[in-house]
Amino acid sequence: MSIKENYNEIKSRLPENVELVAVSKTHPVSAIQEVYDLGQKVFGENKVQELSEKQPLLPKDIKWHLIGHLQTNKVKYIAEFIDTIQSADSEKLLNEINKEAGKYNRKIKVLLQVKIAEEESKFGLDISEAKILFEKFTNGEFPNINITGLMGMATFTDDEQQIRKEFSVLKNLFDDLNHTHKLETLSMGMSDDFPIAIECGANSVRVGSAIFGKRDYSK
Ligand SMILES: *Cc1c(COP(=O)(O)O)cnc(C)c1O
Repeated sequence: MSIKENYNEIKSRLPENVELVAVSKTHPVSAIQEVYDLGQKVFGENKVQELSEKQPLLPKDIKWHLIGHLQTNKVKYIAEFIDTIQSADSEKLLNEINKEAGKYNRKIKVLLQVKIAEEESKFGLDISEAKILFEKFTNGEFPNINITGLMGMATFTDDEQQIRKEFSVLKNLFDDLNHTHKLETLSMGMSDDFPIAIECGANSVRVGSAIFGKRDYSK
């Protein structure tokens, strides 16, 4: 199927209230432009260098989301234009984002990335760490950041029960935090598991290969 067919197919499967972040990592600007021309405005990249190379070549009204692990020393390269950092996973990083956003007189939207997968390798905060950071935020720390939600990735497995269980943990935390301070975004679900994520309460999904095709890491 073509990118256009893929995109329309994914869009047709998303309820009205669910935001699509088109994950364009490893794909060329021409492919991103093609999806943009179909009406997509929100794109996700996971590497600072790749994002800073592509961003100047593409329309300025694209809302860029960073979805990959972010080192503190790289925040400065994206602080001027990034719409949302979905992968905030430490207090040190929040402090740095806050500082760099201040230099541009802007507020950067941030999602706290929470570790919900049983797999070892995944980045993210523990539930208790996320609660503490969120409380600091609601108490006025990080004035140049707006924590608008949570992001999580489920274990890479065929076991649907397990995936459901992990997504539900994040949904519970979302509801919990939402009592003290209104949150907008629950980002969970990728090409293989976004329908489950939506059933579990996601209102934002990050879909890459189901739109752009398989990624080629050999280049
Ligand atoms: C690559 C990536 C995605 C998209 O993955 P697909 O399986 O291609 O849809 C979503 N979220 C994160 C954090 C990613 O790194």
